[in-house]
Amino acid sequence: MPRPSLWGLLQESPAQLLAIVLVYLLSVAFGVFWVLSNHRLRGLRQRALLFSREARQYAGEVQDLYQHAPCGYHSLDSDGRVIRMNRTELEWLGYRADEVIDQRHYRDFVTPETRAAFDAAFHQVLGEGQEGSAECELLCRDGTRLPVAIQATAHVTEDGFQYSRATVFDLSERKALETRLEKQALTDPLTGLGNRRYLEGQAAMEIARAARSGTPLSLIAIDLDHFKRINDTYGHDVGDVVLQAFARLAGQVLRDGDVLCRMGGEEFAVLLPDTHREQALQVAQDTTEDGTLAYTASLGVTLVCAGETTLKPAIKRADHGLYAAKERGRNRVQWEEA
Ligand code: GH3
Ligand code: MG
Ligand code: MG
Repeated sequence: MPRPSLWGLLQESPAQLLAIVLVYLLSVAFGVFWVLSNHRLRGLRQRALLFSREARQYAGEVQDLYQHAPCGYHSLDSDGRVIRMNRTELEWLGYRADEVIDQRHYRDFVTPETRAAFDAAFHQVLGEGQEGSAECELLCRDGTRLPVAIQATAHVTEDGFQYSRATVFDLSERKALETRLEKQALTDPLTGLGNRRYLEGQAAMEIARAARSGTPLSLIAIDLDHFKRINDTYGHDVGDVVLQAFARLAGQVLRDGDVLCRMGGEEFAVLLPDTHREQALQVAQDTTEDGTLAYTASLGVTLVCAGETTLKPAIKRADHGLYAAKERGRNRVQWEEA
């Protein structure tokens, strides 16, 4: 029996052979396509997995930054109710998230003294401007007050206002520094007494108080005698010690409420609330009577007159008395009538 050859088959039934070849080619093409597409799909799936892992990691990092940022973050609804607050701010306030979120209005955490500033800023966030800022004090759970700066913006969609987002900065370090600098600016570093600026500030209050109560207010100007000689004889350091000792001595003689200041160099001033002429002259005498210190001082004493709104005219009078005391031989007290 002759073996069927491809040629024989082609001659006998070309259509059948064509069909077989077609099926064969289609199968091969499908196989190739399947392998390729499967490979591509696996690549896509792997990339999608990678993306989702990266996205999750990124979201975690953002969440971590939000929660533990060195500043507070919170979001409020249009009523001012807290809908989100980061851990930093919760820790500042001393509350747990479940005690605050959807439970409390933010303005409840703002001290009554600074609530108006907060309300005004929140009003601006809800309004046209869509942003606002305020310096406030937060009332913490333990009763302490935290000075903060709040900067807020509105999140608005086509449906209108959704919520406000705020960043809260802790101002306590800045405030402490400001207070320290302010104190430094009003203090004489050598004696620790207030300086001329401090006296002017205190005088404004005392003058107003004296005017209200109708009580006398006295002023003493003090200048140590021949101080240059002390420096020249014993040295500048001893001069400094004498200035400190004088500040201490005068402080012991004076009452609470009397304001002793170093006006500069070896010049001092004392403001004596509720003190009339005789008492002021007695204080002036006492201030220089200390046998242990080998120095003297000249003093001018006067009253702050009714109608005087600053200490300037009284300082001028007291200085005038002081110069008169110097001229009359130093180491004495001179009254200067208004
Ligand atoms: P008078 O009796 O006329 O007041 O003479 P005086 O020498 O006290 O006055 P004068 O104004 O001639 O000199 C004041 C001196 O005080 C000169 C200055 O060097 C000194 N002095 C000013 N400030 C300080 C200081 O902080 N420390 C020391 N040790 N001396 C000071
Ligand atoms: Mg002087
Ligand atoms: Mg002097």
